[in-house]
Amino acid sequence: MKPFKHYDVNTIDEAVSVLQDFAGKAKIIAGGTDIVGMFKDEVFAERPEALINIKTIPNLDYIKEENGMLKIGPLALLEDIAHDELIKSKYTALAEAARRTASPHIREMGTISGNICQQCRCWYFRSPNNRFNCIRKGGEDCYAEEGENRYHSIFGNVKDCLAVNPSDTAPALIALGAKVKTSKRVLDLADFYEKEEPKKTTVLDDDEIVVEIQVPQPAANSKSKFEKFAIRKSIDFPIVNCASQVELDGDTVKSARVCLNAVFANPYVAQKAAEYVVGKTLDEETVAAAADLALQDAKPLAKNAYKITIAKSLIKKTLLACK
Ligand SMILES: Cc1cc2nc3c(=O)[nH]c(=O)nc-3n(C[C@H](O)[C@H](O)[C@H](O)COP(=O)(O)OP(=O)(O)OC[C@H]3O[C@@H](n4cnc5c(N)ncnc54)[C@H](O)[C@@H]3O)c2cc1C
Repeated sequence: MKPFKHYDVNTIDEAVSVLQDFAGKAKIIAGGTDIVGMFKDEVFAERPEALINIKTIPNLDYIKEENGMLKIGPLALLEDIAHDELIKSKYTALAEAARRTASPHIREMGTISGNICQQCRCWYFRSPNNRFNCIRKGGEDCYAEEGENRYHSIFGNVKDCLAVNPSDTAPALIALGAKVKTSKRVLDLADFYEKEEPKKTTVLDDDEIVVEIQVPQPAANSKSKFEKFAIRKSIDFPIVNCASQVELDGDTVKSARVCLNAVFANPYVAQKAAEYVVGKTLDEETVAAAADLALQDAKPLAKNAYKITIAKSLIKKTLLACK
């Protein structure tokens, strides 16, 4: 690994100030379970000159309900989120997503902010020693388009990059209507991901940090569910994952949110599915039609059409679990 500078900071302001000093050439490190591997493998097209360790900032690992919302500090560990009784009972999809992420060791190190900010996955992009100068690195070509694309995007493009966002907690948080508070603003998590520029994963500026995740308290008659399909049961990224939250009025759906991930460069809000189920009861026929609608715009590549079947199945399963 090439040398780089490492800063232990004590406050958010200090972290922002160091980010500003490096003007785009420094990165935040939280649990390090994603970014250390990227450093070691020399994945970056332009190698960051510094890592800014925010784990040295005290009291950023809280999980609490306050002012009608769940507030999660950026350093809350995935393992703590998975086992938190409040999250398990009221924000179920999030606990389920955290519990299905990686392995116990990684969940004991990996943080919620690192999980939602992690870089996209594509074996060309992440190939060691910066081997492929792909679109996500500022190059001209997407090597997955004609290459090994079985794990890649099945929807449109962020300017033709076919990598996928692999976060397990992001779709759960989006289904739950979460917002991200940063050092500059508050955003819906659904709007947190970059839609135009493939070199960026999120819309965060170079000197902007996630400082809190905020989840509104679910309505009394609502349920949420997360499901993940991966090749292995433990330590595996999703082939597809999905989370739904449904608010019922009797047997009828009053409102719904459905979000897929690992099917696109950003978490993919299945708006058509959610709209379709409103005013209906959640039976097999309704959820199957909703799933068909959600995947209507899919444009699979040569080797990943199978993801459509999995995505439909997960949409159906999560919606039916919210009855
Ligand atoms: C073997 C293995 C299996 C894995 N399996 C899964 C899986 O199944 N599902 C899954 O979702 N993930 C998986 N991961 C990815 C990753 O480990 C987790 O997502 C973890 O939650 C990342 O958190 P972290 O704190 O370690 O992030 P870090 O590695 O510290 O950071 C990740 C990214 O987030 C940025 N970042 C972190 N915190 C902030 C902040 N507060 N503000 C702004 N930017 C920030 C960093 O700059 C970096 O770009 C896996 C990783 C490994 C190594």
